[in-house]
Amino acid sequence: MTISKRPLFLLLVLLCLYHTNALCQRKSSPLAGKTICLDAGHGGTALTDSYRVGPTGEREEWINLRVALLLQKMLEESGATVLMTRLTDENVPFDDRIQLATENKADVFISVHHNATADTAVNFPIIYYHGNASENKGSIALGKLLAKELSNHLYTEAPPATLVSDHAIFPSAGAKVLRGTYGIPGVIAEASFFTNPAEESRLKDDAHNRKEAQAYVAALEIFFSKPVPGIASKNSIVTLPPFKVFQEAERVDGTALLWHQDYVKGSELMKSKDKQTLQQAYDLLTRSVRSFPDSYLAAQCHLNRAHVLKKLGNRKEANEERRRAKEFYVVLGK
Ligand SMILES: [Zn+2]
Repeated sequence: MTISKRPLFLLLVLLCLYHTNALCQRKSSPLAGKTICLDAGHGGTALTDSYRVGPTGEREEWINLRVALLLQKMLEESGATVLMTRLTDENVPFDDRIQLATENKADVFISVHHNATADTAVNFPIIYYHGNASENKGSIALGKLLAKELSNHLYTEAPPATLVSDHAIFPSAGAKVLRGTYGIPGVIAEASFFTNPAEESRLKDDAHNRKEAQAYVAALEIFFSKPVPGIASKNSIVTLPPFKVFQEAERVDGTALLWHQDYVKGSELMKSKDKQTLQQAYDLLTRSVRSFPDSYLAAQCHLNRAHVLKKLGNRKEANEERRRAKEFYVVLGK
C-alpha cells in the first residue's frame, strides 16, 4: 500500500468497526425484532374539539404525535419494527388503529395520550389497561413499568401515578382501542396533564417530549427482557356491573373541582354511626369518585364507599365495591 492510500484504508476500517458495533447494539437490545404498535391519540380535530386543549392553546393531539414520532425513531434505532397509527395531524378511525395492531400481530400496543381535568393543579401519570386486573396481566406488567419510568423520567418528586382499568372511566365497555386489541399487551398511557399550566408549557418543549419518549423506551426494554404474563379471556375470572362516572365535559365543570374536598369530607363523615350522616358520606364519596374516577384517591374512595355500605347494612354492594377496587385499580410499589 502506498502512503497516500493509508488514510483511506484507516477510514474504511473505522467505518466497518462503527457498523459492526451498531449492529451488535441492535442485537443486544431486548427491543430487537419486536413489533410495537404506537398510537398517537386523537388527531385532526382542531375545528371540532374544544376539550382537549391546554390553557394557552396547545392541543393534546399535537403533543401525542410529537412524542410518538420521537419514540418511533428511538425504538427503530434499537431494532424494533414500529407500526404508527398516524404520522400527521389527521383523524384516523379507531377500527383502522386496531386493525394495524391485530393484523400485524403486534407484540405490544401503546396509545400515547395526555390528560385533562378540572383541577389545574393536578399533574401525574395515569396508565389504563382494559378490563379486569386478574385477567389482563400482560397489560398490567407493561403498565406498571410505564408508570414507574414516566414518574422517574418526568417528575422530580415521586408523584402518585395510577394504573387503572379503562372501565373506571368508560364504565360499560372500556376504551375502544384497548377493547379491540385485547389479547395484545396494551395500554393507554397519559404521562401528564396539559390542563396544568406549567406542564402545558413543558409539553411544548422538544427536550421534554424526548424525555417522555425515553421513559417509554426504558419501560419497553425491561418489559421485553422478561417473560410476558398471559392474558385471560375477558370476564373469564370476574364480572362487575358498570359504575357510572362523569364523562368528559362534566369532568371539567365546577362540581368535579370538588373531588378532593368531597373525598376528605366523606371520609370524615363515614366514621359516624348516624344513618343520615352515613348517607351523606356515601353521597360525597360517590360524587368524588365519579368526578375523578382515575385519581390516585379513587381506589380508596371505592373502599370507603364499601365501608359505608357495610355500615348501612348493604353487604352485597359492599363486597362488589371491594372487588371493583381490586380489579380496576392496581397498587403500585414505590
Ligand atoms: Zn387523549
